[in-house]
Amino acid sequence: MISIEEAQHQIINTLEPLDEQTVNISAALHRVCTENIYARENSPLFDNSAMDGYALKAEDTLNANQTNPITLEVLDKIPAGSPTTHRLTNNQSCRIFTGAPMPQGADAVIMQENTEAKEKSVEIYRPMRSKENVRFAGEDICAQDLLYQKGDILDAGAIGLLAAQGIAQVKVSQRPKIAVVPTGDEIVELGQNLQPGQIRNSNAYMLAAQVEQAGAQNVKSPIAYDTLEALRHALTQSAKNADLIITCGGVSVGEFDLVRKIIEEEGSLNFWRVAVKPGKPLLFGHFNNTPLIGLPGNPVSAFVCFELFVRLAIKKLQGAKPTKHDFEMAILNKNVKPNKKRTEFLRGKCFSKDKSRLVEPHSKRGSGHLSSITHINTLIEIPPGEKEIQAGTYVKILSLKN
Ligand code: AMP
Ligand code: MG
Repeated sequence: MISIEEAQHQIINTLEPLDEQTVNISAALHRVCTENIYARENSPLFDNSAMDGYALKAEDTLNANQTNPITLEVLDKIPAGSPTTHRLTNNQSCRIFTGAPMPQGADAVIMQENTEAKEKSVEIYRPMRSKENVRFAGEDICAQDLLYQKGDILDAGAIGLLAAQGIAQVKVSQRPKIAVVPTGDEIVELGQNLQPGQIRNSNAYMLAAQVEQAGAQNVKSPIAYDTLEALRHALTQSAKNADLIITCGGVSVGEFDLVRKIIEEEGSLNFWRVAVKPGKPLLFGHFNNTPLIGLPGNPVSAFVCFELFVRLAIKKLQGAKPTKHDFEMAILNKNVKPNKKRTEFLRGKCFSKDKSRLVEPHSKRGSGHLSSITHINTLIEIPPGEKEIQAGTYVKILSLKN
């Protein structure tokens, strides 16, 4: 049995990032950059107004107040998108709207609520500071600024920024194709009637959802029944179609647990069994040179091991950086009895109370209790030990990304 860290290390070190491709930014959400992206231009591109109001010279307004307004001539009206050719001299202004280019000679914009419009002039009711309510060219981003680095994951903000920069296409790594191969004679596809003793193929749907959440692409596989022929057939197909195979079930020590047998005899085994709860029988190997992670069949074990191991594998295939988990700390709000030998990952809900970050473990701890992976947002790391961990203790948590 190897440690969690050793297992993660072996998976990450064995996998190679996939090739890159160019995609339109509308298809780039959650994709991983394969090159540094630099700003092409300043943002904003030109000095513009942050308010609806009047562009003016701040020095003209020094003595303005509510009882003694100062009056400025209004030269022009500047809607967004229409620069003016006028240049302001002292005691002149332009009506201006949010986002409109500043006229030359102006250095501030007074909001219209602090003015009163007259026929060809405007009364100013407060003094202005230079630069007030002006968005200056390049104040947000300068041309040549590094926007994203190779290995960064593009989010919705990134898509907006790239569009604003006129960058319509980006180089990203290919979306990993992950084949999910369910195993077991008792497993039945949705839509079919259950015979006595049979259960539905819930794991394939759950894992496919986790694959999508991780920014990868699910490759559906039929259920592999518990014979070497059926398993060989499913793995052969999946090895052709996918960058990584995930099996679920059939990795334990039972007579019908054939995944380890087939990997040992017809593929290659990197490791089997990890000191983690749930998920001890986790397996990593290759079939027809395609990497394969064998997840346990119990739904909670499959869910947790996906988050702990498959997530990192997908990150590595994507070339995402860093290829590690982002643990945080929170205060346990209930006593927890640890496992004596293995680090355990409980499912839990993290929340804030009185300025503290608390985490509540789900009351169900069994690896078959599917309810314990619903209405949660966190995995809680409970190190092995003899003594009960008391409420109030800080624990490491891994927040689950949606
Ligand atoms: P196994 O490791 O194959 O013995 O599976 C362990 C447990 O997980 C058994 O109770 C299986 O019925 C259950 N299981 C295996 N595969 C699935 C699946 N695709 N969906 C739901 N439960 C499963
Ligand atoms: Mg089975």
